[in-house]
Amino acid sequence: MKNDCIFCAIGENKIKSEKLYEDENCFIIKDINPICKYHYLMIPKMHYATIKDMPKGQAEVVGKCIALIPTLSKKLHLENGYRLIVNQGEDAGQGVMHLHIHILSGQKMNFIV
Ligand code: AMP
Ligand code: ZN
Repeated sequence: MKNDCIFCAIGENKIKSEKLYEDENCFIIKDINPICKYHYLMIPKMHYATIKDMPKGQAEVVGKCIALIPTLSKKLHLENGYRLIVNQGEDAGQGVMHLHIHILSGQKMNFIV
């Protein structure tokens, strides 16, 4: 937990938010500013900013989290395909420096690569 981190605060229920999924490793919320019909954030509970900052063992944890996304297909409207985005640092426009995976779904995506 990092004190001034919004995603840590949500993870620890210090800020109220609807969690669509939660386990010991990660949780999923709706993005507050959706860029797509459905826009979720999968957030590992451990605080670190980017992949290069990952503590030992976290690559496996994040891999496990990603692997469960297809099991949430119906709930997250992923049946017709979806896109995962992980912004890393300034050039990518990363706004929240706590690693997270955007999950976009529910429409054709010809707006970004
Ligand atoms: P990024 O630019 O990859 O760091 O994405 C951060 C994302 O977090 C943005 O899409 C924001 O809309 C989203 N966001 C910021 N604060 C909240 C919040 N309290 N609840 C849900 N989503 C948030
Ligand atoms: Zn954090």
